[in-house]
Amino acid sequence: MPEQIYVRNLKAGDVLFREGEEGDDAYIVETGTVEISLDLPSGKKVIATLGKGEIIGEMSLIADAPRSATAIAAEESELLVLKRDRLLKPIEAADPIMRLMIQMIVDRLRDAPRWMQEGDGSTPDISNARQLAFDEVRELALRRIQIEGEMRQAIEVPEFELHYQPIINLKTGMLAGYEALMRWTHPERGFVSPGEFIPLAEESGMIVEMGRWALETGLRDHLAMLEAFKKSFPDEKPPFVSVNVSGRQLFELSEIDVLRDIIKKSGVDPSQIKLELTESLMVHDAEHAAVALEKLKELGILLAIDDFGTGYSSLSYLHRFPFDTLKIDRAFVVNMAKDEASRKLVRAIAGMAIDLGLDIVAEGIEEQHEYDILAGYGCHYGQGFLMARPSPISNNIELIENATTW
Ligand code: C2E
Ligand code: CA
Ligand code: CA
Repeated sequence: MPEQIYVRNLKAGDVLFREGEEGDDAYIVETGTVEISLDLPSGKKVIATLGKGEIIGEMSLIADAPRSATAIAAEESELLVLKRDRLLKPIEAADPIMRLMIQMIVDRLRDAPRWMQEGDGSTPDISNARQLAFDEVRELALRRIQIEGEMRQAIEVPEFELHYQPIINLKTGMLAGYEALMRWTHPERGFVSPGEFIPLAEESGMIVEMGRWALETGLRDHLAMLEAFKKSFPDEKPPFVSVNVSGRQLFELSEIDVLRDIIKKSGVDPSQIKLELTESLMVHDAEHAAVALEKLKELGILLAIDDFGTGYSSLSYLHRFPFDTLKIDRAFVVNMAKDEASRKLVRAIAGMAIDLGLDIVAEGIEEQHEYDILAGYGCHYGQGFLMARPSPISNNIELIENATTW
């Protein structure tokens, strides 16, 4: 980020910053040396002399506290200036536990020279604002640790359950497949929405294990639903089961071997398995995504791009990556009735997907007119509360046994 780094030149004796000042920048010594000193009652005490490649002043930025020492050029020196944002943005984006650790370490390091110099070993006074910021991060970290522990237990018990939402062929009204959606009933807190626990599971990495569980369970349930389907609809194409896979699950390519083993063991025909991925995977690292998706395709399964049109969706994803299905996000479907722009967008996305030979699933159909418009645009499939809400497997088997169509 060249615009955030520039150079500062100092002559011998120039003050870079003084103890007690607010700090906005940190510095990396390019040439020369800088002396770090404390103003003690007994006089100035040099605690360090920093040379090429060393960083100065980062601690007060991280701790959001005044400079804890004075920095003066010992000779002619050239420093690279590291702006506050450049340093703090990645830290702010980091996991709260990591942030807590960074802050604690910095706080201890900052105060260490003074404790040693003053020799009384007392705990230094930290200002109110710093204490509050500290408490906040600590609380966040503790909450995170707690919920991670709870999720780990939830897998073992299990408190997780998969619900299935039918996906309908919009032309024929036949059941075409179902999406597996995770549900968590916490023993005390009751129902926890996936919108709440999935992001936490992703940040903590728990999603890897939960994703394995979802695939394994989804495939097992699929066999039961498939059996019912064959009885009710002996001449129809067997349904597919759609399982959500977080991009986080594919950071390591070796995870794909684990998923392959789950698929093999399940005995489900891979052509009936669809994995739904969001574009975050492609945004994060397109090259890695290309390798991962090709590797997944080698398993003989189908791939869907989920929530298309919400994030950084790029049309180029559609032909660069081996997707079979595009899922149009609910946000467009909801707005179609009142908003012509949404209709145009949906029509354009649908037209393009059809041209590219992709299947389309429209999400979140709640009204009959939405169903009709989408069918008119050539969308092959749809899911939504109009047809069926996500529900436990028993309910889905019942729908199938009753030979329900829409
Ligand atoms: P998603 O993959 O986009 O799933 C579709 C969501 O839309 C589901 O929310 C579903 O209940 C909801 N939905 C379907 N039809 C309608 C409708 O007509 N109206 C409205 N208002 N909503 C509708 P849900 O089950 O709360 O899941 C939320 C998100 O959590 C999912 O969005 C998905 O991103 C994530 N998720 C759920 N299960 C899993 C899982 O097993 N693994 C991963 N990685 N993510 C999951
Ligand atoms: Ca999905
Ligand atoms: Ca979706």
